[in-house]
Amino acid sequence: MEQAEIGLIGLGVMGANLALNIAEKGNKIAVFNRTVEKTHEFFKDAGALKDKIIPCETIEDFVAAIRPPRPIIIMIKAGEAVDQQIEHLKPYLSSGDIMIDAGNANFRDTMARFDRLKDTELTFIGMGVSGGEEGARHGPSIMVGGTEASYKRVEKVLTSIAAKYDGDPCCAWLGENGAGHFVKTIHNGIEYADMQMIAEIYGVLRDGFGKTAGEMADVFGDWNKGRLNSYLIEITEKVLSAADPISGKPMVDMILDKAGQKGTGKWSVIESQQMGIPATAIEAAVAARSLSSMKGEREAAEKIFGLESASYPASYGPDLLKDLELALFAGKIGAYAQGFAVMSAASKEFDWSLPMPVIAKIWRAGCIIRSQFLDEITKAFTETPDAANLVVTPAFSDMLKESLPSLRRVVTAALAAGLPVPALASALTYFDSYRRGRGTANMIQAQRDFFGAHGFDRVDGADSHHGPWGSGAGAGA
Ligand code: NAP
Repeated sequence: MEQAEIGLIGLGVMGANLALNIAEKGNKIAVFNRTVEKTHEFFKDAGALKDKIIPCETIEDFVAAIRPPRPIIIMIKAGEAVDQQIEHLKPYLSSGDIMIDAGNANFRDTMARFDRLKDTELTFIGMGVSGGEEGARHGPSIMVGGTEASYKRVEKVLTSIAAKYDGDPCCAWLGENGAGHFVKTIHNGIEYADMQMIAEIYGVLRDGFGKTAGEMADVFGDWNKGRLNSYLIEITEKVLSAADPISGKPMVDMILDKAGQKGTGKWSVIESQQMGIPATAIEAAVAARSLSSMKGEREAAEKIFGLESASYPASYGPDLLKDLELALFAGKIGAYAQGFAVMSAASKEFDWSLPMPVIAKIWRAGCIIRSQFLDEITKAFTETPDAANLVVTPAFSDMLKESLPSLRRVVTAALAAGLPVPALASALTYFDSYRRGRGTANMIQAQRDFFGAHGFDRVDGADSHHGPWGSGAGAGA
């Protein structure tokens, strides 16, 4: 029997769809799943693609079915399961075989896996895959970390299955070891912020202006034709348009306001903090999900404090929708600027040389944050590769100058009306702090020196690094 070009372990939602995508692009693939019945079911449902699939019941048969050197995608539950699977697989592999972890791994686990395999003749790739079930089946965005040589060996298959933007595959080698999984983590962090800001604007429309789901669907539908055009705005319109088959009410009104999270948002924030790079909009989005899950506490607090009766100022005027659109746009710029700044710092910290324009390019299609906006980011980083931050590139500084007044008006009015807009407000204050040449940290330095003799630099450059502060100084650490 003809051997497979590639193997895949894990026929869950993502793995099954990725395997069908690989087969559909003409690549012969061997598949294995821990629970054998799932392999049988998968093969039974594969239809015309059966010719390209070799279903295997044991790891031994699975490995034997792939032509060496064997690329093997592992698409299973992230964490310990991946380590168990690697150990299970290793004895059957030979020199040059490549294990590709395509799940949502923490990049630090990926780095540890690279380390553990470094004295073997086996190769490892950590690969971020975005786009959910639909992306896996018809074209995900693929972020690869590992040696460039190992990527070259799987490039043809991966680019064949990736989403395409203007014919360009949304797949790239981004750097050594954990680079692919790190970039996927930050992608998800940005996704958290993007989703949270959309939810905040939805909240302003619903609670500040009493708009119905149907009315809001029209608003998001219109916005999707303009500068906010993106997958997340598109699905927001669809979500707002859907009716609940049981009650007949808008589906969105029947959904409990408790958001789930699996960890990638939190990892983005932890890593940004570790490197000292502010990612306040992402942080606010993660915190908002955590607060959303405290439903009981929120209900109890509402009984004590009540809600502000004030709605949006009636004088807001006819430009409301334009202002909200521009506010969302400005907030989005802040979130992406932060995400890219975190990646830029990580690139130095881990010696990866992450290619920012390429990252923006492979996010333009296939992934959850796909949008025309990412095409603008690609251009900005290509034209200004050394920009310290996305917001100071010529194109984005112009966009911010135009949209920032709207963000300020929307956040100010929302806060006055008691409507929470934490991610939008974080993006605004991030920008206000970033563009202020003389900030307020001189006060912090003075306080630190007062109680802890930590010293400070003087604005005139004179060589005096302490007080004098008078009595009570030097009280603590
Ligand atoms: P899923 O549908 O829950 O499937 C989980 C798969 O993992 C099953 O094939 C399961 O095998 C296997 N598995 C679990 N524990 C195992 C173990 N100890 N040893 C061997 N196999 C084990 O999960 P999924 O949604 O496809 O997600 C797979 C990976 O992709 C995860 O890392 C996830 O975070 C990532 N991801 C998911 C999405 C998404 O939208 N769902 C998007 C991007 C990335 P059994 O059938 O035997 O239980």
